[in-house]
Amino acid sequence: MSGRLAQSGERGVRNAEVVGSSPIPSTTVHSPPPACTVPLCPVSVYNKTMRFAVDCMLGKLAKWLKILGFDTVFHGRIEDDALMEQARSEGRTLLTRDTGLFARAKDLPKLFIESERWEDQVHQVLTAFNLREQVLPYSRCIECNAELAPLSRDAAANLVSASVHGSANTFSICSLCGRVFWKGTHSRRMEKKMKEILNRGQDRDV
Ligand SMILES: [Zn+2]
Repeated sequence: MSGRLAQSGERGVRNAEVVGSSPIPSTTVHSPPPACTVPLCPVSVYNKTMRFAVDCMLGKLAKWLKILGFDTVFHGRIEDDALMEQARSEGRTLLTRDTGLFARAKDLPKLFIESERWEDQVHQVLTAFNLREQVLPYSRCIECNAELAPLSRDAAANLVSASVHGSANTFSICSLCGRVFWKGTHSRRMEKKMKEILNRGQDRDV
């Protein structure tokens, strides 16, 4: 999937073309979620430097956390121990729907994801850690999770097609993989979803 995104908002969010991540199949059978979803620390400890490690069954959640600008690692295939070690070593909060993994991650900040619907999952994470004010859409590469850096129009000339260079005004580049992003005709569907996600956060009853 490839869709160009442009987002304007009161926080002056950066615009970008977003290239979708590959869907990751999961064959693991999971038990119903437990009742406990309590983070291990007060919300205020988390939300300034929130980083996530997302388990392999939650690819859509991981993708959207990156779209919203949050530092998020996701692996299509990874052993539980390896994921927990990465979370531990990088100071990440574990997000999972796997009851076994959730129970084993005793020493990690963690959140059990309750819903099977990714929209509800995103809402749960943003609400649980009070992250609504931290959202910075399209500021992070959804392929490799690195932050995007501004790219001058002159520099972009050598990196995008002539038609893109002629039609877009603002460019950015992934600091890790070098992927170039720009304002442009964006995915209506993705933008609609973005509005739903952000608007939902303003409705405390949802
Ligand atoms: Zn990248």
